[in-house]
Amino acid sequence: MLKFNNTLSGKLEDFTPIDEANVRLYFCGPTVYDFAHIGNFRSMVFTDILVRTLRFKGYNVTHAMNITDVEDKIIRRAADANLPIDDFTAKYIEALWQDFDALGCARPDIVPRATHYIDEMVAIIQTLMERGHAYNSEGSIYYRVASFPDYGKLSKINFAGNIAGASERVDADTDAKEDARDFALWKAVEDLNEVAWDTAIGRGRPGWHIECSAMSMKNLGETFDIHAGGVDLIFPHHENEIAQSEGATGKPFARYWLHAAHLKVEGETMSKSRGNFYTFRDLIEQGFKPEAIRYLLLSVPYNKPLNFTFDALRAAEKAVTSLRDFRRRLLESATDEAARAMTEEGAGIEGGRFDLPSFAGKAIRDFDAGISDDLNTSVALAAIHELARETNRLLAEDCIAPLDRRAILKVLDRMDTVLNIFSDDEREMLDSEIQTLIDQRQEARRRRDFRKSDEIRDELLAQGIILEDTRNGVRWKRK
Ligand SMILES: [Zn+2]
Repeated sequence: MLKFNNTLSGKLEDFTPIDEANVRLYFCGPTVYDFAHIGNFRSMVFTDILVRTLRFKGYNVTHAMNITDVEDKIIRRAADANLPIDDFTAKYIEALWQDFDALGCARPDIVPRATHYIDEMVAIIQTLMERGHAYNSEGSIYYRVASFPDYGKLSKINFAGNIAGASERVDADTDAKEDARDFALWKAVEDLNEVAWDTAIGRGRPGWHIECSAMSMKNLGETFDIHAGGVDLIFPHHENEIAQSEGATGKPFARYWLHAAHLKVEGETMSKSRGNFYTFRDLIEQGFKPEAIRYLLLSVPYNKPLNFTFDALRAAEKAVTSLRDFRRRLLESATDEAARAMTEEGAGIEGGRFDLPSFAGKAIRDFDAGISDDLNTSVALAAIHELARETNRLLAEDCIAPLDRRAILKVLDRMDTVLNIFSDDEREMLDSEIQTLIDQRQEARRRRDFRKSDEIRDELLAQGIILEDTRNGVRWKRK
């Protein structure tokens, strides 16, 4: 059973999706005014492990990650660079995907951008005003926190002492607000040269929090399964998202809230002024490999603080190299003959046609138990290293059967659907992937789309898969 530590309940809970056929997940993505740094990447790798674990457990997942492409900092920096904001953000969005791919993160299924959801934001704000959760002050619109008794249920912050009209000034807007806790949903913009939208609620631009309420509910429904992000977003961002969304719909918003803990660099908070601020490309320029960075980021369970050190990064590089060497040795020793025997028998780790070596069976069970326990990646990694140790010992003694080698490879590849630390060019296609392509080729042939069918044949050939058209259908074998 998959379990998550839910920030909302403060408890470890069994995961039960709203719709068994489709788990809906939202991750608060980056604000694109700069290159993403390794702190951002910790959150992204955590979300990637979360999505991959859900798929490993057999769920279909719809993963939405927003891009915040309008915000005060973006507007300021775009103006400094003398660029329209779309041109300014384009460079950082492109860099984001490059880093994302290099880090082995599966791209989200849906990537909403804030500037494309202004109408949805306006609609929510109008509903909030009708329901008494929002008010207009000097053209800007604020959320009335006092109207939402559940405020604070995520962050567990006690606001009891912080009453309306408190003298403490929390921001420059205080004079315009009824209560210091209230936050902006819509900021009025009078200057015609400033970035703004003309809407039914006036000329202005949205607050950051309303962007996520609009983009998540539009794409995933008013109530969805999982909302993820970094721990620094719990308050005020996620607390405010809940107040806005539940205030507008009267329904629960996200059911499970998962937050990645802080990342420090060499024991200190990362900051540009300390000189310990690293983007992904800074580390690549220093000669580190993307897979080592990924390994280090996932080696500490997401809910524990991670201390990013260069010693740890070098150790991660060694660990990945040794695992890749292990896999290569195993691959080389699994003979063609054994591979053919196995595909002809239709055997596989789930096929039950032969026995998996007992230590490999234990490894996949330990891995599953670890990753299912609130994504405990350190237990999962221990299982893969134990499997490598035991197999290496048997390989050295040359007392491991070819079929067992194939079976261990399958276990390893199954684990790697979550970890994604072996490189793609070394990965053999899974039987199911081959079958899917063969089916697509047959379909193309039925349509008499021979160009497509040849393309698929060539693609399979490039992967070392040879097709044979026989009277009884298509047969395939590995080169
Ligand atoms: Zn957000």
